[in-house]
Amino acid sequence: MNTLPNSNRIIVHIDMDAFFASVEQLLHPEYRGKPVIVGARPGQRGVVSTASYEARTYGIHSAMPISKAYQLCPKGIFVSGNHKTYSDFSRKIQRLFSTFTPLVEMASIDEAFLDVTGCPHLPENWRRLGEFIRGQISETIHLPASIGIAPNKFLAKIASDLKKPQGLVTVTESEKQRFLAPLPIQRMWGVGEKSASMLIRDGIRTIGDMQKYDENYLARRYGKFGSHLFYLAHGIDNRPVTNDHIRKSIGRETTFQHDSNDRKYLYTILGTLAQDIGTRLRAKGILGTTITLKVRYNNFSTHTKRKTLSLPQDADHIIFNVSKELFDSISIAQKVRLLGISVSGLCPSAHAEQMDLFNQQQDTQNELYASIDQIRKKYGTNSIIMGNTLPNS
Ligand SMILES: [Mg+2]
Repeated sequence: MNTLPNSNRIIVHIDMDAFFASVEQLLHPEYRGKPVIVGARPGQRGVVSTASYEARTYGIHSAMPISKAYQLCPKGIFVSGNHKTYSDFSRKIQRLFSTFTPLVEMASIDEAFLDVTGCPHLPENWRRLGEFIRGQISETIHLPASIGIAPNKFLAKIASDLKKPQGLVTVTESEKQRFLAPLPIQRMWGVGEKSASMLIRDGIRTIGDMQKYDENYLARRYGKFGSHLFYLAHGIDNRPVTNDHIRKSIGRETTFQHDSNDRKYLYTILGTLAQDIGTRLRAKGILGTTITLKVRYNNFSTHTKRKTLSLPQDADHIIFNVSKELFDSISIAQKVRLLGISVSGLCPSAHAEQMDLFNQQQDTQNELYASIDQIRKKYGTNSIIMGNTLPNS
């Protein structure tokens, strides 16, 4: 068992609290302490992207149709959102994190893993380290965040999620087994609803239940997945923190509260995802060649379909059209519970330009998207929306 490399590392997972909504509350002091719903305005098509903690008390959550959110909280503040602004904040956050350690991995727009092992300028005591980082985020960025500190990514990520918002949870090497024991197995990385129900049938409900079995037994019973579970159950995870610029793909997915096979609704979701990914690609100055669609049905079977394009792209409408084409090629006889799009085969835009991959048409498109990003920055994400994301039912 390979436990040594992990036990001496210090991994910090930082997750911004209700990120988009918190940015809105920061930029609009009159929104503070009020239910803020980012996604679309009432009457517009669309889904909730982020709800502030005040809005969550009304039962509003991500991926809920805006019309439903409006029913639950008609007095809420509904904003269409501004991805350019959120990306700007994300970059500010990343820059701040890079002052703590060069090993920063932005896991998404609002969360990051930091490997701070052997950083002499940071507090040694983990609680003080967490308070220091949270204090710096609050002073510099003026946004709330939750923090987990542990010897590896798996433990740090669970820890940051346990006391949201503004949580700080530390788990040391000697505490990790006891820390994990009471948690439900769904907390384990790689355990979805399907594998969870299989494990529960076998009497394994908590990570503690899993800890009672040895690796051979779990491997015999569940194959390779069983070994994976064994290591996680004992808090062993050797994944390194990798810098953002060597990241392999950019993606986003949404799980619905209510499964759906309404194609128009699902197109709307695809449009929102494509728009988000396109904005992020352009903000980072990168292009992607392969577009992957992920669909999970309500029986928890998951399908991915991908298409590789002849030229790398960063345009919302291309990401949307390819995803839609992939989506149209699969059956939705079963209701869908999750949709995701990711773009891989990434290269810097400058590199593509050097390679002379662009033609005249591409230049025109780049100018168009530069204008779209400008307008979105000024008037909000949904000020310009692709026609296809607005089905007219
Ligand atoms: Mg977050």
